[in-house]
Formats: sequence, C-alpha cells, structure tokens
Amino acid sequence: MRHSRLNLIALCLIASAPFSMALQQPSEIQLKKEVIEFIEQKNDLLIEVSDKIWEYAEIALLEYESSKLLEKILEDQGFSVEKDVAGLPTAFVATYGSGAPVIGILAEYDALPGLSQDSKPFKQVLIEGEAGHGCGHNLFGAGSLGGALGLKDVMEKHGLKGTLKLFGCPAEEDVGGKLYMARDGLFDNLDVCLAWHPDYETSVDVDGSQAIDDLKIEFFGKTAHAAFDPWMGRSASDAVEMLTFGINLLREHIQPSVRIHYVITEGGKVPNVVPEHAQVWLWVRDSDREGVKEVVQRVEKIVEGAAIATGTTSKIHYLGSYHEMLVNIKGSEVMQKNLERIGAPTYTDDEIDYARKIQKEAGVEGKGMCSEIEELKEPPEDPVGGSTDVAEVSWITPTIHLSTACAPYGIPWHSWAVVASSKNSIGYKGMILAAKVLATTGLDFLCDPETLAEIKKEFKEKTKDYTYKSGIGPGQKPPLRTKEKK
Ligand SMILES: [Zn+2]
Repeated sequence: MRHSRLNLIALCLIASAPFSMALQQPSEIQLKKEVIEFIEQKNDLLIEVSDKIWEYAEIALLEYESSKLLEKILEDQGFSVEKDVAGLPTAFVATYGSGAPVIGILAEYDALPGLSQDSKPFKQVLIEGEAGHGCGHNLFGAGSLGGALGLKDVMEKHGLKGTLKLFGCPAEEDVGGKLYMARDGLFDNLDVCLAWHPDYETSVDVDGSQAIDDLKIEFFGKTAHAAFDPWMGRSASDAVEMLTFGINLLREHIQPSVRIHYVITEGGKVPNVVPEHAQVWLWVRDSDREGVKEVVQRVEKIVEGAAIATGTTSKIHYLGSYHEMLVNIKGSEVMQKNLERIGAPTYTDDEIDYARKIQKEAGVEGKGMCSEIEELKEPPEDPVGGSTDVAEVSWITPTIHLSTACAPYGIPWHSWAVVASSKNSIGYKGMILAAKVLATTGLDFLCDPETLAEIKKEFKEKTKDYTYKSGIGPGQKPPLRTKEKK
C-alpha cells in the first residue's frame, strides 16, 4: 500500500519537473509534515483573523468586514478572488491552481443576533443588543483559511497539479448562502469538497443532518371593534390559533423523526381591534426530503382548514428548503486517518480550569475538554436533529465533514458559552487542528487519484436516481439586509 501511494505521489507532480527533481520528490508523509508545519507557522495569523471576525460579529448577509478580511488575505497569498457571487455581496470564491482535480473547502463567518458576550468564563454581555459568535463561525472561517493556505503552499512548492477553491459562504445561520451558491452552479465543477464545524467533540462527522422546509404563513381577516361590533370582524389571530392547534394534534400521527417548530411573528396589535393580519414562521424537518414533503402537504391542509373555519384567507410563502446531508464513507475514512495521525489537542491546566468554569456557569457536568478522537461510526438511520446548507453541496459533489472540539464538553450550543470559548485558546486549538486535517486530506485527493475515484464512485451510486434540485426558484433573490444605524 505504501509503495503504491508513493508512486501516486510522484504521478501527481507536474510532468514538466526535471527528471532529477522527480526522483527526489518527497513522500506523502513528508508533504503532510510540510503542510502541518506551515499551518503551525501561521498560528498567529489564523488567531488574529479569527479574533477579528469574532469582534466584527456580523450576522447573516451583513458579513462585509469578515468577508473582506478573508478575501484580502487570499488575494495577497496568490489566490484569484471572485467577489459578490450568487447575488450575495458577502460571498466569494478564491481559486488557486489549474486543471483536475478540483478541490473545494467551505468557510463560514456569520454571527448570531443578540449573543454579544465577552471571552470571560461567565455570562457577560460585551455590547448590549449586539450579535456574537455563538456557533463559532469565526473559528470556522479562519480554520478553513488555514487549510486552504496550507494546501496552496505545498501545491506551489512542489508543483502539484490541480485546482483549489475556497468558498466564502455567508448566512449559514439564516437564509442559507450555500442554497443560492448551489443553485447558481458554483459547486458544479468540484471533484470533492471539505468542510468542518466547531463542536465539543472531535470526529469525522457521519451523523448527517435533517432536510428542512422553511415556511411563512399569513392570514388575512377583517378588523372590527372587539366589544362594540365583533360580529363584523374575522380574526387572523384566531386562524393562527387553529393552525397551531392543528399542528400540535398532527404531531401524534407523524413519524418520530419529524420535527415541527414555529413562532408567531404577528398576532395583532391591541385586544380591542380584531386582528386583520397574523403570521406564523414555521419549519418542518425530517430525515429526508420526501418525509418533509409529506408533512408539509398535511400542514398546507391545516392552513386551509384554519382559514375556512375562521372566515379568513391564507397565503403560504415557501422561503427555501435544504436537503439532508449525503455522507461519503470512503472520503470520511481518508479524513479519519489524517485526523488520527495528527491527533487531538492537549490542554493546559488553565484551559481545563476555564472550561470547567464555563460548565459550572452553564449548569453542565464539569468534564473539561474532550481530548479524544471519536472512532468513525456507521451513519445513523435518522440523522441527529438540525439542518445545514452544507447539505446542498453534498448532493452536488462528495462532501466530507469534520468536527473539532473548540468548546467545553456538553455546553449548550448557540449560547454565550460558545461565544466565550471561540475567543480563547481552547477554540484556537480546535481551529488549528481543523486547518491541518482539511489541508492533509486535500493533499490526499490531489495525490491519490485512485482514492478520489472511489469517493466519486460512491457519490455516483448514492445519487444515481437523483439530480440536484434547488429548493429555491431560478429568479429568487436572497433577502439582502442593510445595517440599521444606531
Ligand atoms: Zn454553525
């Protein structure tokens, strides 16, 4: 196995290399060592980038400073950067190299509204009402940058043939930037794609994710004085009550894998005016698109019934949908080997102390940091709860996903505790590990065409009856935002 791999390494070097040079080409292990050392040298830069994105704390579709920072570094490092792609001003594609294979790396950098938090191990708002990186996407953006810079460096130094693309993907938390990027064909010519996400465990992620439909439902009634002439009115808010009651009865007669959750975004203004307008924002999730479709059809009937019963009219807005994540086993095995070879981070006493303080404040067991690597599991029949727009990419090209421990074990995600950890050395260690695993796995795909062919074969078999279909229409534009002036 080792010998054949070495031969393949030699094959991936440019044909124009002098013969004497070709004989001295480094082995796979040496190349990986170089990549890892390069990323270690970039440690300070990556932390600086991560901290800046953390401080910018820009929410979905407002990530102007964060994307500009990443674009500038990539341009300075010799990538050609296409900005403002897929109608998203904060999305970009940075490309290095040419020809096959084409390897993609995904980067995210959006924050969550209302989660502003200091880096201290207890809840302390940094700026009242502002956003914070409660999903660690500052680490995600900087870690993927590190992976791309590491891989580009070894490609350049050793004349490795192939193309590397770093995708700047905005608005993962809301809207789903990749949904628009996928619809516009940005991932179409990839041979394989790599992504990662901060977590409190370290594993090659084969858990998958749920498919989801995102709906807004409006009801239109008639106003009247709620005491003087209520019989003249038709309450849109009554229709919302009937809808939510119907949905909550429906729960008993659907598959246990389904998740339905909603918020009432408008329900009237004052009690003495019969509400003429009301609105519900509702998400339906299941293990696959078919399951979601079936439940959404039943929700549509409940909407219709609620409108009939209350004498109102209704309108459903279909805002978008994600696929479930398509897991690639062969690709995951390649990534697992690199992860195990590099090893999980170790932590100082101060870091463990910091993690335990957060756990105490968050009311979870004080286990500190998880410094083990999970074994590669079988993908579960039903994915864990939650959805991601990375899944869109996974139906276009084989997509391999990593999670690294960047936060104390067991803490609630999308919370102040993740914001704090994402600007601490425990977060940086997970980010640097991710950069190394992405780069070394990318190197395997550049240098080992047989493995890449197996990965693509598995993808083809799993998608043989299906061609990617976007959950948004061809003309649908992203709901761009402008920053509110204070
Ligand atoms: Zn996230």
